[in-house]
Amino acid sequence: MAAGDDECTASVGEITISPVKVQRLPHLIHYLPNLKTFPNPLDRNQFYHPSDGFYISPCDVILRQITYDLSGTFPSPPPHLAYHRAGPRKQIFFDPSMTRVAIVTCGGLCPGLNTVIRELVVGLWELYGVRQIYGIIAGYRGFYSFEPMALNPKLVEDWHKRGGTVLETSRGGFDLEKIVNSIKDHEFDQVYVIGGDGSMRGAVTIFDEICRQKLNVSIAGIPKTVDNDIGIIDRSFGFQTAVEMAQQAISAAHVEAESAVNGIGLVKLMGRSTGHIALHATISSRDVDCCLIPENEFYLEGKGGLFEFLEQRLKQNGHAVLVVAEGAGQDMIPRSDAQKKETDESGNPVFLDVGQWLKSELKSWWDRDHPGELVTIKYIDPMYMVRAVPANATDNLYCTLLAHSAIHGIMAGYTGFVSGPINGNYAYIPIAEVANAKNPVSTMDHKWAWVRSVTNQPDFTKR
Ligand code: ATP
Ligand code: MG
Repeated sequence: MAAGDDECTASVGEITISPVKVQRLPHLIHYLPNLKTFPNPLDRNQFYHPSDGFYISPCDVILRQITYDLSGTFPSPPPHLAYHRAGPRKQIFFDPSMTRVAIVTCGGLCPGLNTVIRELVVGLWELYGVRQIYGIIAGYRGFYSFEPMALNPKLVEDWHKRGGTVLETSRGGFDLEKIVNSIKDHEFDQVYVIGGDGSMRGAVTIFDEICRQKLNVSIAGIPKTVDNDIGIIDRSFGFQTAVEMAQQAISAAHVEAESAVNGIGLVKLMGRSTGHIALHATISSRDVDCCLIPENEFYLEGKGGLFEFLEQRLKQNGHAVLVVAEGAGQDMIPRSDAQKKETDESGNPVFLDVGQWLKSELKSWWDRDHPGELVTIKYIDPMYMVRAVPANATDNLYCTLLAHSAIHGIMAGYTGFVSGPINGNYAYIPIAEVANAKNPVSTMDHKWAWVRSVTNQPDFTKR
């Protein structure tokens, strides 16, 4: 094994394991005179008993790919990707009595945002003795628009019980120069960004500028996406809470549909580019007859289409439940030239309401093909209800572990990274990698096949 501080590469038998490099401040600022590190204050924490194996060595890694073909079909496997394992380091880079921390939430809401903020504050305070912790108000623009809010454990005590983000959030307003100037003016040397793909791209830009200016500032991202559309990490926080809430909406749609003649319950769920929430809620609820997701194109009319399928279902059962992810069918919805160009403040395309459109198409089809016959279509759009609730128990615990692993990483001087679980173990991953990693539903794998099998829905490929 060749092991320079963070540059460990090992060969185990025929397999070469090579960890993805995450930048560390002592490396970036080697030009600083008298660079010194500090013993981890957990050594003195009454609740911790650091012993051999407690602190994580820089050569401790998590393998990205954990399945391996023993048949030898691939005789020379490529180097196995690995990431540095998250957790406390024996020596830390920041002096806890001096360090100044900024925490910001950006983009849309997601269950668990407040838990992450709370755990960052309490973790920094209790584990490392940091006292100068500030919340940036209302997203990136808050760096230069509002005074930071001083945070402490007493203030954030019950934040994990609240939905949304107490720090507030916003879209747009990303002014790199003003943000970096604000970081310098406030003498922040740790910045935690909690947000989605756009926020992570913003964090990469801030990180690049910090490196360019050789600033002694660490930045960590904690990816937030209720849709679970971020790759590399096992899942994003808030996702499980969202699936639970989605099931409640599906149950309501089922009750409505069952209680009417030719009742159709239609539920729109979150999922701009991926249908994970729709898929998981469908499999978990068992009440769904058809699940439409962005990864699987569908059509309405003709053989094998949605209308033909619903016709059969209504004949057989007298009712049907339809789930649609918000990003599904966007290409099929007629839109004006102005609508085609519309973007939100962050530059994301504005989606049209696929639920409203489907409801109106279903009604027109029914009236055309079944004149005089009753039909009831109940459309439920629980999107804001799903994302605005507090995190459930599983997500609350997950947010705690995410926050603590980010703290350990930053205190050790890692920067430009995201903390997240890979194959169940927490790792440090370069933000740039996470910002660009997608996580689409695979329509070729077991889970999607199971959706099709429990719903019996068409595969929409036989037009
Ligand atoms: P979500 O989509 O899950 O709601 P998000 O983080 O993707 O969350 P956005 O509104 O797209 O939400 O972006 C959040 C913030 O990041 C905004 O302030 C936006 O201006 C900024 N941002 C988005 N994309 C970039 C980028 N490429 N470079 C710099 N900043 C960006
Ligand atoms: Mg986004």
